[in-house]
Amino acid sequence: SDRGKVAIVGSGLIGTCWAALFASAGYPVCLYDIGEEQLANSRKNVKNSLMKLEEDGLSRGSSTAEEALSRITSTTSLAEALQGAVYVQESTMESVEFKQKIFAEMDSLASPTTILASSTSTIPASSFTEGLKHRCRCLVVHPVNPPLYLTLTELVPAPWTEPSVVDRAYEIMQSIGQTPIRLQKEVLGFAVNRLQYALLAESWRLVKDGVLSVEDVDKVMSEGLGPRYAFYGPFGVVHLNAAGVRDYCTRYATGIRRVLADAGETPTFEEPEVIRELEDSLQKLLPVERMADHSAERAQKLAELAKLKRKL
Ligand code: NAD
Repeated sequence: SDRGKVAIVGSGLIGTCWAALFASAGYPVCLYDIGEEQLANSRKNVKNSLMKLEEDGLSRGSSTAEEALSRITSTTSLAEALQGAVYVQESTMESVEFKQKIFAEMDSLASPTTILASSTSTIPASSFTEGLKHRCRCLVVHPVNPPLYLTLTELVPAPWTEPSVVDRAYEIMQSIGQTPIRLQKEVLGFAVNRLQYALLAESWRLVKDGVLSVEDVDKVMSEGLGPRYAFYGPFGVVHLNAAGVRDYCTRYATGIRRVLADAGETPTFEEPEVIRELEDSLQKLLPVERMADHSAERAQKLAELAKLKRKL
């Protein structure tokens, strides 16, 4: 497919990853941010990411890291970044007022055919695109951190987003080796956080009710459900755990309802005694003073998993 110019608006952690992914897949990329120093830093990180992708055999196209890097330009002019762009991936601050401001600016500069996507993790597109001239070309395209190794990307339209725009964003994500999913309508938390929060709520209750230690909750995932879900999600898993999904529901529906009815209230996630217990336990394993190291180590392990998944 064609590889038109992509603008990355905001060159922080996520914008930098997007720049590397698009350039790796052959797109000309223009990085925009408010300061030269931030842009220089981002370019350095893009280069490291591209070299890492190449080294791990996880490049998103056939070009070398060097070739990919040569496709990247940067600017402190939003107009210059958007000039001729077919697709814009906004990755600035997570605040609804800020998204309204930056989208209004992007809207005034974009051509009528440019797609305007936001990386926002939590803010529905309807809350920052309603009054825009090109609102039918705006949507949320939400990556999962670290996007270099976790390919899932949620596409969430506002009620006024044109379906053909979502189709096009879907193709663009596929073209850079991401794995898009498409929400048919806007819901709070999108898909990833709805599922993640359901799991977090039950984990919280198990600790609060004194059923499991913090370490053991994490083991349920890392040594059990996590690896299982690495290949099939909740539906594939139940299908495989019986003679098909219909058989599973026939046999287990009553039991599932009984367990879920036992689950109790939604936590506040502010219960001081639970927070203390979580902190005591996690601080030993992953001290916050060394967060950058832990995060890099996790990224490296996820890179190994991504390599393995490519082979399977
Ligand atoms: P970040 O703080 O690392 O980067 C934000 C960038 O925006 C900075 O480079 C900053 O200089 C820039 N910026 C500030 N004002 C600006 C302006 N007026 N114009 C352009 N750029 C400006 O944040 P991040 O973690 O990269 O998050 C960016 C977006 O991605 C957020 O909406 C966030 O919700 C979303 N997101 C983050 C994660 C994550 O795990 N961090 C995951 C998925 C999505």
